[in-house]
Amino acid sequence: MRREWQKARRIVVKIGSALLVDNGAGVLRSAWLDALCDDIAALRKSGKEVILVSSGAIALGRNVLGLPKGPLKLEDSQASAAVGQIHLAHAYESAFRARGLAAAQVLVTLGDTEERRRYLNARSTISTLLKLGAVPVVNENDTVATNEIRYGDNDRLAARVASMMSADCLVLLSDVDGLYTAPPGSTPDARRLEEVADITAEIEAMAGDVGSELSRGGMVTKIEAAKIAVAAGTNMVIASGKVLNPLSVLASTGVCTWFLAHSDPVTARKRWIGGTLEPRGAFVDAGAAAALASGKSLLPAGVTRVDGAFERGDAVAIRSAEGAEIGRGLVAYSHTDAAAIIGRKSGEIADILGYLGRPELIHRDDMSLRKKGS
Ligand code: GLU
Repeated sequence: MRREWQKARRIVVKIGSALLVDNGAGVLRSAWLDALCDDIAALRKSGKEVILVSSGAIALGRNVLGLPKGPLKLEDSQASAAVGQIHLAHAYESAFRARGLAAAQVLVTLGDTEERRRYLNARSTISTLLKLGAVPVVNENDTVATNEIRYGDNDRLAARVASMMSADCLVLLSDVDGLYTAPPGSTPDARRLEEVADITAEIEAMAGDVGSELSRGGMVTKIEAAKIAVAAGTNMVIASGKVLNPLSVLASTGVCTWFLAHSDPVTARKRWIGGTLEPRGAFVDAGAAAALASGKSLLPAGVTRVDGAFERGDAVAIRSAEGAEIGRGLVAYSHTDAAAIIGRKSGEIADILGYLGRPELIHRDDMSLRKKGS
């Protein structure tokens, strides 16, 4: 078993429509789904957290509604998703319940991972579900997504979810078992790559279009997903889901392609917060430096001043009383709400603001501290 798989604590598994839905009959492949849920229950038992990103809503729903084969108009795919998603939810709920696990449906739209205010919400909801022992089952909310505002394919959606959740492994299960040097169907000497350390132009050129009829994503979107994943410190695997128990088969045979990240998710996230984002404001706290350095979150109590105008989810700097930057982080409150609660105990927040917000202004997981001397 590969070290990256063995070490992975939080795994996102993306399931393509062609695996879940029988192409000819348009019905759910329940035996396959049951076997997959056995794999997930086993992973959970071994202490790993699993988040599913499941396609299949449109493929299932169009059959129930009796729509003809071929490309669908936007309204018809939205209607199909509404019908199919309820079938999917039912199937996951009963398969996981039979294994003593709770399934949790999470439908996201593009803004949930791209807009930082909503990103913090989605991240904390999925974290809470994992903490409570549920298996989040994520899909795009295709019923309200329009062609302009959508992820469009679940490969990239899964990569965004993996990056948002700081997962250390993303597995794309579909009808292809890896990245080949040339299209395997038409090129006899095409060879599957075991691992990709860097996504070079040569690697991108190998991604001919090997998509199947049911799924939107071909190899091109898988490479796009790999770029998102590895930039976030997540290793990505392309593996075949055509077999029963695809995750245990993956663990035992290792037939797949690994895209290797150069850092771990926590380091990548801290780098993103500390380096890429422009702070929209600052908190001044004379005593914060030592507490933050020992791994604490920034609480309202010690903050003496709020500078700038920012919304929840924006990057905000943390400064000492002398003005030196101690670190940066994603803030849990807008500048007006933050100004109202600084200097106060976290327990008073609900009384002051009229709603129960987070106890911290910036949670330590959302914070990147300046190294000494930099
Ligand atoms: N979200 C779509 C569905 O559930 C699938 C998108 C894809 O196949 O990548 O039907």
